[in-house]
Parts: sequence; structure tokens; C-alpha cells
Amino acid sequence: MRYGLVGASGRMGAEIRKAFASHELCYTLDIGGETCEGTPEVMVDFSLPSALGATLDAVRRFSCALVLGTTGITPEQMDEVRYVARSAAVVQSFNFAAGVTLFKMILREFGPLFADWDAEMSETHHNRKKDAPSGTAILLREALGRDCPTHSLRMGGVPGDHTVSFANEGEVFTLTHRAISRSVFALGALRAAEFAAGAKPGFYSFEEVLTCGR
Ligand code: NAD
Repeated sequence: MRYGLVGASGRMGAEIRKAFASHELCYTLDIGGETCEGTPEVMVDFSLPSALGATLDAVRRFSCALVLGTTGITPEQMDEVRYVARSAAVVQSFNFAAGVTLFKMILREFGPLFADWDAEMSETHHNRKKDAPSGTAILLREALGRDCPTHSLRMGGVPGDHTVSFANEGEVFTLTHRAISRSVFALGALRAAEFAAGAKPGFYSFEEVLTCGR
């Protein structure tokens, strides 16, 4: 598979290169400019929201698929992504860890059983993360489908911890996901890219990638 990488010199860019080692990197886009040595079949974007316009231009130019992991993108930008997905396969997720997808499915299925409990979320990330709350917190809150105050900590080098706690007068029930290494997101992005390379145009979640064929 030939792939392009937006945010190639970033922390996630380095992880993506490692996870995609058996594939050919033929295009990069970074704050410093672009390099192009071929036509990518899939564009992988782990960068900043300010890069998204250029990413979507490149997807149109190369008629390629897109795996979008960048967080902090606005609802208007998401509309643009969905528009591009009319003619390209797009897999978008604020979190490409399989465990977070399971977390989301658990909240969607069992969250309603906690309807009369208080619910709060906390998320911890490294101190260089720009957006808060994290994209994953937004994704988990949507899966829960109710108001859930969210507390963001930015400390040290933490790749990403998310905890949802439910409490009533006598009990506390807590669910936690912890990413131990950033490589997990890159391996998920690889799975998404292999899916997108063979998929029809459309907007796909990582859950659809993980559950396709099941
Ligand atoms: P980073 O700061 O290390 O890297 C950001 C990269 O974006 C750099 O290579 C930079 O050159 C590039 N960039 C910035 N502005 C640009 C522009 N205008 N045009 C082109 N390139 C530009 O950040 P990171 O830790 O690698 O994280 C990157 C993104 O991935 C963040 O949005 C982060 O939240 C997200 N992320 C998503 C997941 C997931 O599973 N979806 C997991 C981890 C991180």
C-alpha cells in the first residue's frame, strides 16, 4: 500500500512510520511543507486542525482514501470531511485504540442502566496536548448520550487515560481505559488504512472497521 502522512514529523507521525514499515510512504505534509514521490492510495492525518484543509485538498488531488486521527476539529470541519466522504473512503476516529472502541460500545449499551446515577469523566494526557477535552472524551460522552462533566489533566508524558465514574448515595462504579503506548493508535490507524484502501466511498467509524465481517 502506498500511503501519505500528514503530521509526518510529529509524535504520532513517528509511530505511524514504524507501524506502517511494510508499506510505502510516498507523500508527506507538515508545517514545513510537502514532499511527493508518488500517488498515495491512503492519506493518514495525525496533525492539527489547521492542516485539515490541505489534507482534504490532497485527498481530492490524489483521489485517495483518508484515515483521520486529528482531534480538536470543529463541527464545520467535520461537515467538510463528510462531504469529501461522498467520493472517498474516510475512516475517522478520535481514538484508534481497540479498547476505547469497546469502552464506547459498553457505554452505549449499559449507560442507560445508570440513568439515575451521577456521571463524571476525567481524562489525562501529556502536557503538550493542545485540545481539551480530548477527542476521546467527546466520543465517549456521545456514546453515553447524556450530560457528563469532564475534567482534563495535562501532565507529563501520559499517552491517554479516560475514566467514567458513576455514583449514587451508596456506590461508585468506575470504568477506565489506559493507553500504555502511542503505538496502539498507530496500529489501529494501520488497520483502518488497510480497510479504507479497499472500501467504497463513505464515512466510516473505527468501530465499523473493527466489526466489519462479524
Ligand atoms: P505533534 O504536535 O507531535 O505533531 C503535530 C504534527 O502536525 C507535526 O508534524 C506538525 O508539523 C504538523 N502540523 C501542524 N500544523 C500543521 C499545518 N498547518 N499543516 C501541516 N502540518 C501541520 O502532535 P501528536 O502528538 O503527533 O498528535 C497529532 C494529532 O493526533 C493530535 O490532534 C492528537 O490529538 C491526535 N491523536 C489522535 C489519536 C487517535 O487515536 N485518533 C491518538 C493520538 C493522537
